[in-house]
Amino acid sequence: MALDADELREAGRRVAAWRVDPGVAVACPVCSAPGLQIIDRSARPHAEWYALSCRSCGLDETLHIALGSPVHSLDQ
Ligand SMILES: [Zn+2]
Repeated sequence: MALDADELREAGRRVAAWRVDPGVAVACPVCSAPGLQIIDRSARPHAEWYALSCRSCGLDETLHIALGSPVHSLDQ
């Protein structure tokens, strides 16, 4: 199962929010179920990778965030 462009954009937005506040529950970008699992597999400073999985719809996706993207500036 893969994300389309809109879902990828939404996933990126949700990961960015999760990074600001990791305690907050993230909703799945595909089925909107709460409790999306996000695992940080980043290889800083080269790239950031987040493994996303959802038990409700079976989503299993790795999100890649290139350095220099706006999300990176949130990494403090
Ligand atoms: Zn889902």
